[in-house]
Amino acid sequence: MTPSATTRFAPSPTGFLHLGHVVSGLYSRIMAGEAGRFLIRIEDIDTTRCTPELTQALREDLDWLGLYSDGPVRQQSEHLAEYHAVLDTLRERGWLYPCFCTRREIAEAATQVAPDGSLVYPGTCRHSAAREGQGRDPVWRLDMGRALDVLQGVPGWHEVGHGRVAGKADAFGDIVLARRDTGVSYHLCVTHDDALEGVTTVTRGRDLYEATSVQRVLQDLMGWPEPVYAHHALILDAEGHKLSKRDGAEGVRVLRQAGWTARQVLEHPLVRQALEASLPTGVYSGG
Ligand code: GLU
Repeated sequence: MTPSATTRFAPSPTGFLHLGHVVSGLYSRIMAGEAGRFLIRIEDIDTTRCTPELTQALREDLDWLGLYSDGPVRQQSEHLAEYHAVLDTLRERGWLYPCFCTRREIAEAATQVAPDGSLVYPGTCRHSAAREGQGRDPVWRLDMGRALDVLQGVPGWHEVGHGRVAGKADAFGDIVLARRDTGVSYHLCVTHDDALEGVTTVTRGRDLYEATSVQRVLQDLMGWPEPVYAHHALILDAEGHKLSKRDGAEGVRVLRQAGWTARQVLEHPLVRQALEASLPTGVYSGG
């Protein structure tokens, strides 16, 4: 925690607010510190999974909990032109290439798994500029080898409470920066917005720890500032899986309808447990 940190809580409205979100939101607010700024951002570029109704519900639930943004709430779907401008820059510099491979072709040709569990793209279209996709739109991939040459190494990051972490971007291969369906991507939009909003401490769950390697590459390629990172512990179910929207019992709406107060939700034992595991001793004192 730094005295003047700017943090953000960046949920994707693919379902109702649940206790996992409460942990992320509270963690972010606490990490901003008394004098810092805590921002809320709605990451809704995937318009097939994110709906205006879910965004509205998410914002209502956050208001009910008293988790307010210290600045305007940015909604990514309203800023697509800005993300396309970043893609244009990367394309003009020769760091992106179009890829027409189908999922199936990639699954058949891939031999490696990236640190986040995804398949490493085997590079088929990198070597065949003339390849076309029988009328299909391409996805646009980052030429990771070229990017790391430009940066003269693999960027790492500072993890709050741990120190310097070595990046693993080289193990991700040529990641997609413009998806076929949305025309943009999570890595692209999140790094753009973190830079634009002056986020100094990126707070989020441990499930996105590995994504940091890729995001550090984009920041350095674009000349954006390097934030520090603070990944918090997740709420896990009895089988050790991350809590998700499928676990309706932990939905904030469900608890509210069952008579819980906002304070009780903020101090829910599962929230407390995850925050106590993530924050320095004595910092968490409930909502
Ligand atoms: N929108 C992402 C999610 O809901 C979080 C992005 C981030 O914090 O970097 O999983």
